[in-house]
Amino acid sequence: MALSVYSWKRYWGSRTARLDLSDSGYLSDPETDALVAPMGLGVQVNRNSRPSVHWVSTSLLSSLTTMLLEDLAKGTALRCPCGQLFVSNAYQARYHSKQCRWRFEKHKQRHPDED
Ligand SMILES: [Zn+2]
Repeated sequence: MALSVYSWKRYWGSRTARLDLSDSGYLSDPETDALVAPMGLGVQVNRNSRPSVHWVSTSLLSSLTTMLLEDLAKGTALRCPCGQLFVSNAYQARYHSKQCRWRFEKHKQRHPDED
């Protein structure tokens, strides 16, 4: 039997800890959860005395992480083949920079048999 080694990121917890499967039956990412933990909802009353709900935070990092998660959910946050995350409204966007596009297109040109 061949031994397979996967480069998956692993998280450890105690055997008595309760597993949180509230993310559609999947384990939630503890690092992302820790980043967005300071986020909360707040109510703001506008000029017309109408209340509206807004995200509030005491941490810029948690605000940026929440914005990225919203962009991922909307599909405007993309992952370049190099692994870099970027945000674009262009439907044809695939690369995070011109240099990256040139690099991967040159690679595809030199190795047309690869996917
Ligand atoms: Zn890239």
